[in-house]
Amino acid sequence: MKHFDVRTPAVTHTDAPGQFYLSIENLWKAFGGFLALKDISLDINEGEFICFLGPSGCGKTTLLRAIAGLDLQTRGTVMQAGKDISNLPPSERDFGIVFQSYALFPNLTIEKNIAFGLENTGRSKPEITARVAELLELVGLPEQGKKYPAQLSGGQQQRIALARAIATKPGLLLLDEPLSALDAKVRVHLRHEIKELQRKLGVTTVMVTHDQEEALSMADRIVIMNHGVIEQVGAPTEIYREPANLFVADFIGEMNQIPSIVTEGGRLSVGEKSFACHEHGFKDGEPVIAAVRPEDVIPHEFGYVSSNNNDNCIEVLLHQMEFLGSFWRCRLQNERFGDTELFADFSINAVRRLDLGEGKNMVIELPTDRLMAFARPEAKA
Ligand code: ATP
Repeated sequence: MKHFDVRTPAVTHTDAPGQFYLSIENLWKAFGGFLALKDISLDINEGEFICFLGPSGCGKTTLLRAIAGLDLQTRGTVMQAGKDISNLPPSERDFGIVFQSYALFPNLTIEKNIAFGLENTGRSKPEITARVAELLELVGLPEQGKKYPAQLSGGQQQRIALARAIATKPGLLLLDEPLSALDAKVRVHLRHEIKELQRKLGVTTVMVTHDQEEALSMADRIVIMNHGVIEQVGAPTEIYREPANLFVADFIGEMNQIPSIVTEGGRLSVGEKSFACHEHGFKDGEPVIAAVRPEDVIPHEFGYVSSNNNDNCIEVLLHQMEFLGSFWRCRLQNERFGDTELFADFSINAVRRLDLGEGKNMVIELPTDRLMAFARPEAKA
């Protein structure tokens, strides 16, 4: 894609410094007796790339549609650039939107598709032609203007949909699963292109996705949703490394979960063995879930004793190994874990160096700062 300055850097959509560009306050949405959104509050900064991520049916699209005015909220407010837009129809809101299904007009050329939103904006014909050409360059398809949508690939059509959405330089770009209809390779490629374009334009962007890799790689902040509520809002690394609860821990990435009890000093006991862990707010005697990511488990040879008396080491049987290209996914057993097998991802080098193999015994270390404690689901109110 070429580099164009399509938004004057001086343009700012917020009225006062420090004010959020988009603020959702106590938003509820009911479909009959069913509550799809329950008291959602969220502030988005100007120029941020936000992803709504969560399982199917959690309310991501409903929230996006409420921001766009396509489905009005039952209660609550939406403020954009300091203006209450809660009850405005979509046509009076300042956004561009891209849907999963491209939604291009099949009977119009690519140029006409892009020009569509520009036509009633008071621009002259030459201005529109120049803007369309600029947008086609911007999305890397300068030669395709005379074609019809059916003559383009899915990825190309989605780029055109993107060009159309940003044609009027909206303050807000809404993307509703824009990549999910594309095949894996195109998806990854377009992911980078959209992110690059968003950075270049500085347009505040909200994207709905159920693909966690997409959210982790594209978003400045991810909003994790579940059953109509927000579970956590944070930068991708924060969501991954410091999940707020077991739902987020389990939803993003892989997570081992071992039922345990909090003992003296906040340690986590599993059978008669106790482990030092990351700080938590649980009291002595509370049943919790001890959680550690597979890639955080450190492998050692059988008989390993830590020189600094690190007692987060435990002997295990390497029950199964699966080669996954860049690492080995290993299933580990220890009677203290009961029927729960621990997953660990060991590098090819580590497996070679420690001569690991199925049926062998070894020692693993659960690093203190990577061993987390969460409320057990049944203990949640
Ligand atoms: P997905 O990833 O599957 O698209 P989502 O998180 O975007 O899911 P929504 O489409 O926002 O979920 O739907 C949230 C809930 O609201 C779902 O249980 C859905 O069935 C319900 N819902 C959405 N639209 C309507 C509607 N028009 N009438 C009734 N229920 C609806």
